[in-house]
Amino acid sequence: MTARVAVLGGAGFLGSHLCDRLVARGDAVVCVDDFSTGRRANVAHLVGHPSFSLVEADVSRSLPVEGTLDAICHLASPASPPDYLARPLATLAVGSEGTRLGLELAEQCGARFLLASTSEVYGDPAVHPQPESYWGNVNPVGPRSVYDEAKRFAEALTLAHHRVRGTDVGVVRIFNTYGPRLRADDGRVVSNFLAQALRGEPLTVYGDGSQTRSLCYVEDEIGGLLAMLDAPVTGPVNIGNPDEHTVLELAREVIELTGSSSTIVHRPLPADDPVRRRPDITLARQLLGWEPTTPLAVGLARTAEALAAEQGPGGGPEEGAVHG
Ligand code: NAD
Ligand code: UDP
Repeated sequence: MTARVAVLGGAGFLGSHLCDRLVARGDAVVCVDDFSTGRRANVAHLVGHPSFSLVEADVSRSLPVEGTLDAICHLASPASPPDYLARPLATLAVGSEGTRLGLELAEQCGARFLLASTSEVYGDPAVHPQPESYWGNVNPVGPRSVYDEAKRFAEALTLAHHRVRGTDVGVVRIFNTYGPRLRADDGRVVSNFLAQALRGEPLTVYGDGSQTRSLCYVEDEIGGLLAMLDAPVTGPVNIGNPDEHTVLELAREVIELTGSSSTIVHRPLPADDPVRRRPDITLARQLLGWEPTTPLAVGLARTAEALAAEQGPGGGPEEGAVHG
């Protein structure tokens, strides 16, 4: 059945891929974005499509969507640490007020509300891998708290709305995701390393690089979000890839894959940088029948191709060639 879905943050990295997949399956999409960390270019190919419309708005202040909706996917929020550290108050506002406005519109329309939460709700986890039952280890006043606590509040508000008002909600906890449309200057580890390797610059490993992350390719991640959107499941449910690597291993893999002459340099570890992170995806497998399938080397190669194409000819070693 065709649905009308609002994607808040739809011009961002994940949001734009979600818009693509919704339009491709026949849904009508209203993309709402203030372009603070996203790009018009991410959805330019959808503009003019009869099933796609674009609304420019800061969803912390207003949600000017006309007509009824079947679902609202709330992905609006800075997500890269440098982005949210540069916008601390806006990050708290979109997690709190933005979530409240989204929930109220969902209630009015009788729509399902999907909250894009994050593995950051686990903070620097004392339990490994992280199941949804783990309550987390977050510094409530550190620099990262503007993001972590905004998302924890957003989860609390979403579940309270569900309990008190009966709003149909789903909460996904997204783990580190990468792929085409990450901005080269986004500041996250995959885009930084690939952009640096393609330019032949040193890869900046923060700390000694022994901290771990588990990286999920965007196509897989969006499959998980859609499965949650369509399922009668409240969650929270972890959506991520349990394939765990140290940051140093990732740097070496990127250098090999791009055939870059780049070296590795070490830079200070950001405050409260989680030491390790890996999703337990038992619930996603059981409740949604979902699991990721794209190997890291394949996803990295596709992401490198996309970044190289954006950087243009001569933007990287051997004209941006990618091996693997
Ligand atoms: P992104 O920065 O590329 O996209 C976020 C989008 O939201 C951008 O287009 C931005 O302009 C928009 N936005 C921000 N504040 C807004 C506001 N007040 N009003 C309207 N639009 C606003 O980041 P992303 O990686 O695509 O992340 C999307 C969502 O997924 C975020 O909520 C993020 O917290 C969550 N998430 C992402 C990851 C990941 O690895 N990519 C991991 C965990 C959680
Ligand atoms: N990181 C790094 N070099 C970079 C960017 C990030 O070593 O140029 C590290 C960062 O310190 C963290 C990991 O890579 O340990 C993932 O960082 P990212 O910002 O992508 O996401 P996070 O999981 O911290 O939100």
